Order: sequence, then C-alpha cells, then structure tokens
Amino acid sequence: MREVVRREFNRYYSGLEAEELRVPEMPKREFAFLQFGGEVMIRHMKFNDPASLKGYIVENTPAHIYHSSAYYKTPDAVDMNEKGWQSADLVFDVDSDHIRTVCKEKHDRWRCMECGREGLGFPPESCPNCSMKKIDTRTWICEDCLEAAKKEVIKVIDEYLIPDFGIGGSDFDVFFSGHRGYHIHVRSESVRALSGDGRREIADYVRGIGLDVRSHGFRDVKNEILVGPDMKDGGWRGRIARAVYEFVNRSSFVELKEVVAPNVAKNLSENKEKFLKNIASDPPYWGGLKGYTLESLEKIALASIKDLVCNIDERVTIDSKRLIRCPNSLHGKSALKTLRVGYSNIDDFDPLKEAVAFRRGSIRVYVKEAPRVRIGDDELGPLDDKTLEVPLALGLYLICRGAAEPR
Ligand SMILES: [Zn+2]
Ligand SMILES: [Zn+2]
Repeated sequence: MREVVRREFNRYYSGLEAEELRVPEMPKREFAFLQFGGEVMIRHMKFNDPASLKGYIVENTPAHIYHSSAYYKTPDAVDMNEKGWQSADLVFDVDSDHIRTVCKEKHDRWRCMECGREGLGFPPESCPNCSMKKIDTRTWICEDCLEAAKKEVIKVIDEYLIPDFGIGGSDFDVFFSGHRGYHIHVRSESVRALSGDGRREIADYVRGIGLDVRSHGFRDVKNEILVGPDMKDGGWRGRIARAVYEFVNRSSFVELKEVVAPNVAKNLSENKEKFLKNIASDPPYWGGLKGYTLESLEKIALASIKDLVCNIDERVTIDSKRLIRCPNSLHGKSALKTLRVGYSNIDDFDPLKEAVAFRRGSIRVYVKEAPRVRIGDDELGPLDDKTLEVPLALGLYLICRGAAEPR
C-alpha cells in the first residue's frame, strides 16, 4: 500500500536540485534515515556535499531524513563518544499538538484504552471515567492549529531571542516541519557551544519555568509593596510589569477574584486607574492598595504571563545531539516538505500551500475516515467510507496519515 508513496517520494527526490538539500557545514553533521515501514533508524551517516546525499536518497527513498543539530569531528563514528562533539545549533520546536486550539474539538478524538470512554478535542491527562492514563489519540492538524504554532514561533523570536538574547536576523532560520509545526535553528557562535545545562536554562527562561517575581524587582516593606519593576526594563522584569499592567487593565472584578482574594480584587478593580497610572509612572510605584501583598502580586503576575510564556517542546531545546529534519525533505507522515520560511514573510506564510511537494496529478483513494482537510487549494471532508479521485498531494497526505488507501 505504501508503494505508491515510495514511488512518488522517489520521483520528487529525483527531480530535486541537489543544492536544495544543502545543510550548513554538512561534513560535520550526522545524517539519519527512517525507511518506509521500517522501525529502525539508519544512523551515523556522513555526506560531504548535497550531491552525494541526493544520490543516497534517490537510491534508498527514505520516509524521513534527518541531520544532527550537532557538529562533530567524526559524524559517522558509530559510538556517540567517539564522534567528537564540537558544538550544536540551538533548536526550538513548536508543535501544534501541544497547543490547546478550539479547532481540536472539530478534528481530534481521544479514546481511553482501559474503559473505552471517548471524547473530542484535546486529550485529558487521565480518563475522566476510570482515571487511567492510557489514552489513545487520533489527531489532525488544520490551518488554525498551524497558525497558533506560527504565533508561538513569532513570540519566541520577537519577545525572547531578539530582545533578550541579542540574536540577530541572520543568526537563525525558521522551518515548517512538514507536518504539525515549526522549528527554529539558531546557529550563532554564542549559542553553539552551550552545554545541556545552558540549553535547559534557555528553555526554562522562555517557558517561564521557576519564575520568581521576587527576583524581578519586587520588594515589600512592612508587608506593603512599594518597589517593583519598570515597564521599560529589559528581560522578564519589564515583561512582568507590562503583563501585569495589561492583565489588570483588561480584567473585571470577577476575573481578578479568580486570581486573588476578594478584598484585593475589589480594591484593585475600584482603584484600577490609579494603580495603572502608578505602575506606568517614572519611577513606577507599586504600592498603595490595602490588603495587597507580595503573595497576591505573585498570583497576579503568574496569571498575567500565561500568554507570554512559550509553548515549546523543551526536550528538543535541551538536547545538544538532536536529529532534525533535513530542509526540503519530505515528511513521511504528510508528504509535505520541510521548508525554510523567510522570517520577514512569516505572517503570510501558508504551510499547507507552500510546503506542497506534489503539484500535479491525481490519485484514486479509499478514505476510511477523515475530518475536513485542506492541502494547497484543495479541500475535502469530513468523510468516511468513500472511494474518490483526489489531487495527488491530498491523496498522498491522507495515505501517509493512515486515513486512506490507494484504489
Ligand atoms: Zn477510562
Ligand atoms: Zn486545528
């Protein structure tokens, strides 16, 4: 059944300019491949140039192609300790599966493997019926999921990498993964030598993990807050100040009451204008509200920053030996390309259109079950138990997702 996918993948790679497979500093990278139907990754390969990589790919037609984020002295050494790790790109992975978008109610399903309880949308951590944690999911992506992932990418870059870490526009590349999300590869010298610990600190920083407002400029004097950060401050100090301002500004008494004690919420909402004016003044003044303590401020700050922390897969960022998808390679679970996204045009980037690798032809498929799916300008579904002729890219997508079979 996968033969048609393999054949089309081969056709795609045969027609690809070898240069499109170029990876920066190729001879220092480990390459790895997953074959169709294969479970074992073929690893520890080395290619000195795009032409030899293309030759291997056309001959073997893998379902997934990866290279190391790391630079090694001997990338093809089989023993990891003998590879001679030199440095590694810093990678951020944003996966729409981890973002709670409302569209998931339309296209995702979960099922408890223990009792059979089923539901729509984002899967619960444990079954609401039997509280077991064996939850099977059937997830799809749509434009809204990918748009949410894109917003996270922009947040990581615009709110953290550029202002807080001094990363410049030429120091990073953004890639659409070819399926559920985006990757950011940072290649500047300043991050390449970072150890796993350093990478973890960066991951925690952008995720707001272990954030202690007391270490960001707040001080209480006789249980009353007088001193706090300035909205113009850099890093988390200013971010918290601005977030608190916006949160208090937009929240009603009822919303504030969900975060802090009723008397504090009442005081805050009754004196909102004065409070906001005070923390926006130069220098800022954070005091003057009855019953308002450092503890209540901490609660407000944590509620305020909820949308500011980044939803990244921290395992990818802390790993200094990660295997990441090769640019312009096909994703075996979607038949879409891993595609570099020009950051200045990211707002207009439509992954479901621009990452389409198969732009001509059609294929007859039997669809077991699928929600509404769009690939390129073609759309179908929701449908089940139907045989129909569809554009090739859409058909291959459904086959790769396991929702259809060629007929
Ligand atoms: Zn259950
Ligand atoms: Zn969606």
